[in-house]
Amino acid sequence: MLLTPTPLEKHYFRDELIFLKRDDLLHIDFSGNKARKFEYFLLGNFPQIKRVVSYGSNQSNAMYSLSVLAKMKNWEFIYFCDHIPSFLRENPVGNYKYALKNGMKITTSKDRGFDTNSLKDTQTLVIQEGGRQTEAEIGIKKLAFELIIDIKTKNIKNPYIFLPSGTGTTALYLQKHLPFQVYTCSTVGSDEYLKEQWGMLDEEKNFPLILNSEKKYHYGKLYPQALSIYKELKTDMGVEFDLLYDPIGWIKFLENIDTIEGTPIYIHQGGLKGNESMKARYERKYGKIF
Ligand SMILES: *Cc1c(COP(=O)(O)O)cnc(C)c1O
Repeated sequence: MLLTPTPLEKHYFRDELIFLKRDDLLHIDFSGNKARKFEYFLLGNFPQIKRVVSYGSNQSNAMYSLSVLAKMKNWEFIYFCDHIPSFLRENPVGNYKYALKNGMKITTSKDRGFDTNSLKDTQTLVIQEGGRQTEAEIGIKKLAFELIIDIKTKNIKNPYIFLPSGTGTTALYLQKHLPFQVYTCSTVGSDEYLKEQWGMLDEEKNFPLILNSEKKYHYGKLYPQALSIYKELKTDMGVEFDLLYDPIGWIKFLENIDTIEGTPIYIHQGGLKGNESMKARYERKYGKIF
């Protein structure tokens, strides 16, 4: 079901040698790293479970991936988000559209802090926003083991890992299971927020290192600089990245690359289904550009 192991490819970008772990190729229907994070639920057997409940944004990659999981498992999928713009209701696109196609029941709730755990019962699985939960460690540990084998096989000297974070779950568990340094950056909130998320998952404090940039970037905002690096990566490497996390990731990574010793491995975490709505937003702002 999962196409593991995924390839580790050698690339050059702006004259830098960079290896790419192609986790975007993991599963045709799962959005990138969410397949790793939900692998425990995907492969496990949960005969008592009848439904899955989660919450987050109306274009979340996790939302779409959960709709796939629910469909495969024949579970009901109930999703809460704080609002659905009327133009989206009328013209569904991207993750929202495909999650609905998979049978998602979406409800709006203004109360962002509401406790989804209160919905938990013996038949209901509650998944935290973005899949930030300890079960994610199982699948991410497998990714770490794959990387260790890749690095050995390709004889990569002095490797380090970079990946952009949302909740930081993937970066945290990679660091826990890798003997190499993991670098990341925040895309959703401040660096403090990212550390808080880590604190909720793990007491160990063996946290990844956070890279930053001169300029501040706000989650989900459209930036010409983000668009331009997305295009440059696609043209020069022949690889499409997501438009939400990866451009910010690449900007912050490249700003710091000269200060880090060793050979970088960038984890491509997929998320391309989400590009449909991001491209539509960019085109509403800048005209036909893709
Ligand atoms: C969800 C997602 C992330 C963030 O993953 P976290 O484990 O929450 O840090 C990064 N990139 C893509 C493409 C994603 O879908």
